[in-house]
Amino acid sequence: MTTEDLIELGNSALFNTYNRGDKLFVSGKGVWLTNNDGVEYLDFVSGIATNILGHANEKIVDAVSKQAATLMHTSNVYWNKPSIELADKLVSCKGAGSLAKVFFANSGAEANEGALKLARKYGKEVNGENCFEVITLTDSFHGRTMATLSATGQPDMHKDFEPLLPGAKYAPLNDSDALKAAVTAQTCAVLVETVQGEGGINALSDEFVQTLKELQNDGLLLIIDEVQTGMGRTGTLYSFEQFGLQPDIVTLAKGLGGGYPLGAFMATDKVAAHFNSGDHGTTLGGNPLGTAVGNVIFDEIMEAGLLENTAARAEQLNAGLQQIADKTGAIAELKGLGLLIGVEFKDEVQAADVIAASYDEKLLVVPAKHNVVRLLPPLNVTAAEIDEALVRFGAAVEKVSK
Ligand SMILES: *Cc1c(COP(=O)(O)O)cnc(C)c1O
Repeated sequence: MTTEDLIELGNSALFNTYNRGDKLFVSGKGVWLTNNDGVEYLDFVSGIATNILGHANEKIVDAVSKQAATLMHTSNVYWNKPSIELADKLVSCKGAGSLAKVFFANSGAEANEGALKLARKYGKEVNGENCFEVITLTDSFHGRTMATLSATGQPDMHKDFEPLLPGAKYAPLNDSDALKAAVTAQTCAVLVETVQGEGGINALSDEFVQTLKELQNDGLLLIIDEVQTGMGRTGTLYSFEQFGLQPDIVTLAKGLGGGYPLGAFMATDKVAAHFNSGDHGTTLGGNPLGTAVGNVIFDEIMEAGLLENTAARAEQLNAGLQQIADKTGAIAELKGLGLLIGVEFKDEVQAADVIAASYDEKLLVVPAKHNVVRLLPPLNVTAAEIDEALVRFGAAVEKVSK
């Protein structure tokens, strides 16, 4: 079938919930994707911060093949070895702090959904039936299910789906007074991203981090959504390590499965004790196949120098982007942490135009709000690949800013 015929078929058979244009990829290797017509693209999207070892990574291919040939799924009514091993690694490593228990899910939304349920049960059992409210931040993104959409501080996404779930409340990012003022006797938790991904690559300020610690000392649960920032993306396994925070609940997905659908929420023993037999469940979450892949990802991050590479490549990429900013005058600010990078453009430049121009240069990048372009290469990206991306991105920005 020609690409046009395939896309026509896709438009008739699939919901029109995504604006995919003519982008249809059939294979990948490392940081490269090949489309249906054999054209190669440099992929700095990585399935939206997901394929942290790139495409068709041999260790992942090996783990998937072996585990699929051994045992793919048994359901959670039985123990399975890969999930026990991965859970132990996630909470035993140095960065995990007092996180002690893991629940595996299939996606970021499902991980956050579980975290919100856990916070509610904790709030009710510790502070009474009315303690169920969770405060989140404006421009946050926590998922598309009803509970996580309600937690997402973006009114555009709520429209047409109201009423939202009771107990969702928003405070402006980095406004300590407003956050403190939003807390009531009904509040059980605050849910934040350390660096907002979809919302424009906005990091928590030092002052706001202090406020989060104070509220936690006052008895509120601190939930950190590490779905995008976790698994080494920012240069440490968990991004909260760099903010000096000690969360009560943490959620993961995206990078955790490296392209296989895998999510998780983790909690301290004290909080996890409020979830008992029958309180939460999933059929597929944490199955042997998914967690076998997760083990490979974890081992690569912790043992193959991936964190060091992430820091070095981030520095290189930022330096190159700064040169593009100086040369074109089109860039307002470089944002982000590690290889979660946001390029904020000045008012007259739209992210969509930069993304289209990059696509013409055979470079894939994604937006984070209308004026920010996100660069999310795999964590094993090489120095030469970063240089190549900078050449292509520079050409695209120059074209758009003329
Ligand atoms: C992507 C994302 C989610 C939702 O994850 P899905 O797997 O798409 O459900 C939640 N929170 C953050 C911070 C994300 O970046």
